Amino acid sequence: MMPLENNITPDRKASKNLSKYLHKNMDRQAGVDHMSHRTKIVATVGPACDTYDKLLELVKAGVNVFRLNFSHGNHDDKSQIIEHIRNINKTEPYNIAILGDLQGPKLRVGEIENNALPIVPGDVLTFTNEKCIGNLEKIYVSYPNLAGDVKIGNTIMIDDGKLEVKVVNILKNGDVKVEVIIGGILSSKKGINLPDTKISLPALTTKDLEDLQFIIDQQLDWVALSFVRNVKDIVILRSKLDENKSKAKIIAKIEKPEAIANIRDIIIESDAIMIARGDLGVELPVEKVPLIQKDIIRKCLHRAKPVIVATQMMESMIDRVKPNRSETTDVANAVLEGADAVMLSGETASGNHPALVVETMRKIIMEVEKQYRYNREEDLKPQPHSPSFLSDAICYNACKMARDVNAEALIGMTQSGYTAFMLSSYRPKSPLYIFSKERTLINQLSLSWGVRAFYYAEEESVDHIIEDQINILKERGFVNTSDIVINTGSTPVQLHLPTNMIKVTKVD
Ligand code: ATP
Ligand code: MG
Ligand code: MG
Repeated sequence: MMPLENNITPDRKASKNLSKYLHKNMDRQAGVDHMSHRTKIVATVGPACDTYDKLLELVKAGVNVFRLNFSHGNHDDKSQIIEHIRNINKTEPYNIAILGDLQGPKLRVGEIENNALPIVPGDVLTFTNEKCIGNLEKIYVSYPNLAGDVKIGNTIMIDDGKLEVKVVNILKNGDVKVEVIIGGILSSKKGINLPDTKISLPALTTKDLEDLQFIIDQQLDWVALSFVRNVKDIVILRSKLDENKSKAKIIAKIEKPEAIANIRDIIIESDAIMIARGDLGVELPVEKVPLIQKDIIRKCLHRAKPVIVATQMMESMIDRVKPNRSETTDVANAVLEGADAVMLSGETASGNHPALVVETMRKIIMEVEKQYRYNREEDLKPQPHSPSFLSDAICYNACKMARDVNAEALIGMTQSGYTAFMLSSYRPKSPLYIFSKERTLINQLSLSWGVRAFYYAEEESVDHIIEDQINILKERGFVNTSDIVINTGSTPVQLHLPTNMIKVTKVD
């Protein structure tokens, strides 16, 4: 924590030195256009969008968080992409977060000849654990114990279940012969699921540990763990982050039946949740996915944890320029259900129209948000037995008051992020602005519904801070004279207590 003396502004009339202060001390902030959609957009980076210009185009189209999938590409590519995103944050008015997504214990096929192998029902393929370029003769699978784990007749799903094969023979040398049941085009590194088989891999594989070190060294904002099974998986990841003094926050990807059974504890232990519908719809009967999605979103709102709906949201736009009607409705429903963010995978990573798909998604979100159920405080009343009951009650009442007085801004301050996540979870109709002196939080909060975050490190007095914050918003055109503004804060400032006050201001 910075000593107080360093933070005292000599001039109490904050507005006087504000411009200088803004330039010297503040990160550049998201432009007005980005307030237009309050449900956030996560986009996966891949070969279709990995240049500076392409990434910037996607940001301008509405991306708030870029996802780097460590199942694909290498660390050199990723370093380059990270540098581009950091440069965008430096030179353009955005705070884009970067999410590193660990592969976890997932089986995949290897490289495929020409990255496209047409397979048709009846074809017999050979899965081998010897590295090779895959073709109709042999296909590499990244799991040495495949032959030991499967039985004749077992189903193997490929590419989120788009392709399906059945085990017909298991050879002594470890090769597994499979017959194609559902055909299509098999491309490189597609995931494999064995719904009939329990596979024995740790939560963090050797590859994950290497990738995690990279994520820590690069100081990425969020780290996602795939195939979380129980809360222990999160605890292990958390301790690795703590050992390395990393401030990265954790996203648990929910894609296993075991995780559904332990969902309450996983939500409590994680910083955010991703409903990874691709693998979820393979590991469980696909018809169970919609209600699981609804249920997880509701539980995350109750715990004030950001929740992302992921996979196949705009899948048809990988090739085409317009989404299917069902995809449009899927995005709309995720927004209505209360997701913090909706995610794009192959659509932006390897699709033909990465910027167009982001723009299309943003338009759907904005249209739905015209008829959105804002101000959900009454569903989420603060719980008297919660250790954060009193600050929760402040957030709850701040949102209620913002609604009652039709506030033009609801402003919160946080060092842990808690107040931001809490205020956001009520889905206030009033625009939500968060000020923090934790620089990493400014980007991290890009994932959180409706939050626009600002770096701010002064701590002279509450009066001074509130005046400053309102002036900052005024200078940027977010509020105007005679607007009503609600501030939450904590007093006495020096003690850094949990949020304990609300102030109502008429802007002059
Ligand atoms: P996950 O299970 O983690 O979602 P995935 O294989 O489904 O893994 P996505 O990130 O969802 O991967 O992206 C969908 C597709 O986009 C991938 O299967 C791959 O074909 C392509 N893709 C994504 N990132 C990259 C990349 N960095 N390089 C090459 N292709 C990529
Ligand atoms: Mg996955
Ligand atoms: Mg995927």
